[in-house]
Amino acid sequence: MFEVKHHDLLGRIGYIKTKTGTFETPALLPVVNPVQQIITPRELYEMGFRSVITNAYVLLRRKKKEAEEKGVHKLLDYPGVVMTDSGAYQLLVYGRVETTPEEVVEFQEKIGSDIAVILDVPTGFKVNRAKAEQTVEETLRRARELFLVKKKKKTLWVGPVQGGTWLDLVKRSAEEIAKLPFHMYALGSPTRVMEQYMFDLLVDMILTAKTCLPITKPFHLFGAGHPMMFPLAAALGCDTFDSASYAIYAKQRRYMYEGGTLRLEDLDYLPCSCPVCSKLSPEELREMPDEEAERNLARHNLYACLAEIRRVKQAIAEGRLWELLEARARTHPSMKSALAKLNKYVEIFERFTPLSKRRGLFFYDNFSLTRPEAERFRRRVKERFKPPREASILLLLPPVSSKPYTRNKKVRSVLSRLSRELGEDLGRVHLCIYTALGIVPLELDEVYPASQHEGPPFIDKELATRIANDIADYIGKAHYKAVLYHHDPSIEWGTTVYLAVLKTCLNKNLIFKATSMDEKPWSRQSVEELSKSVMELLNKIKEKT
Ligand SMILES: [Zn+2]
Repeated sequence: MFEVKHHDLLGRIGYIKTKTGTFETPALLPVVNPVQQIITPRELYEMGFRSVITNAYVLLRRKKKEAEEKGVHKLLDYPGVVMTDSGAYQLLVYGRVETTPEEVVEFQEKIGSDIAVILDVPTGFKVNRAKAEQTVEETLRRARELFLVKKKKKTLWVGPVQGGTWLDLVKRSAEEIAKLPFHMYALGSPTRVMEQYMFDLLVDMILTAKTCLPITKPFHLFGAGHPMMFPLAAALGCDTFDSASYAIYAKQRRYMYEGGTLRLEDLDYLPCSCPVCSKLSPEELREMPDEEAERNLARHNLYACLAEIRRVKQAIAEGRLWELLEARARTHPSMKSALAKLNKYVEIFERFTPLSKRRGLFFYDNFSLTRPEAERFRRRVKERFKPPREASILLLLPPVSSKPYTRNKKVRSVLSRLSRELGEDLGRVHLCIYTALGIVPLELDEVYPASQHEGPPFIDKELATRIANDIADYIGKAHYKAVLYHHDPSIEWGTTVYLAVLKTCLNKNLIFKATSMDEKPWSRQSVEELSKSVMELLNKIKEKT
């Protein structure tokens, strides 16, 4: 029922198969108001939305007979996939609904919903623990009951996770609901958290739920309807989202784009080329009758959502979702803090990020270097790599720009010189490069992304210290007898590495030598000096033993 084609971070491009048809994810399901529509479901389909969501509870209360007779697809005049929500939102807003969980299940089956949601009890925002616990338990009770009540096989059922901002309750809720054979799972009541831009909390909520749920099932995020949210939501493993934002914002004369929301009154230009924005100017939009402006804004907002979803998909397919996240992190400070939060879950991301990608990685700054591929490389070197047994000297070379290192002219010049001078003793020297990724032993040159990355152009003190400490740790654990550090004055942060390595060698009683601070570390003369230093060290080691 759910097939995944590409994945990156926790995001994936997949296909959800329903009785009406199959649709591609990540997908935004626009909310269709069953009684009043600013954009008709047919128009949504024509714009490219292959799935929508509507409210079963509103239908039940206002159009029960018609919906039961015609079915929800015909009633809405929509040929795509229809998901129905259950009234949980009304429960959250009004505190009560006039129906029962059983009736909501039966009704959704009767009207032919493709994807249906049980009448869960949303935890909401800022509720005390006792209340939150109650919503979790009651939702679980209703979730279990579903499997006694439901009759139709072809309806896909969604199991909502509750608990709100109480993460331990989210965990319990997810663990328990995961035991039930739902087709999809969802995170309930995150709307207020998103409205208040508490994206870092949202990261915790989603990942707490996700890590307890079966990864092979699609995951829905209720109420995420702003394009600025999509890359993050997708990266966290949300396959579908729904929202009425396009219409709500349009009513407030607000214009959505991937970086945020602008007021129509503030717009000098329309930064978009959708069918609406290609034809109209901001003045024309402002001067239109309210309802017409609202309709046009709603259409634009939907196009803006579609465009960002496509960008997310392309990024997943290319393995560049992290880079899209980084670009979006600059649109709002709260997005940046959400991204910083991802560090806490790096192991989870690492597990689901492909081992290698079609294209190399771009590191823009320190933050880029916390992306899962970089973390994975550093960890693997740390945990799994053992230097060759006969190696007694570590030769630390500075980073060079063209990669792979083994084919780099400068590195090759060192290798061939040493090979000439040392002959069979070459095996006693272990060549490694210190890079932004940490230490790269030449034999790991082909391990992704050692040779498949660019940048960053500048490494700050904090990162330099981290890299230096990693290298020092590595030396601390290895069995070298001597370390030779080759300096490149143009690599400023090399000094930090130099100091950390020196300290470790003193502590471990290893022989340490650094080459002179020559302006041209790769000149013929420098390479000759380097080779001489290696010989000297080999002799010293011989004397010592
Ligand atoms: Zn537009």
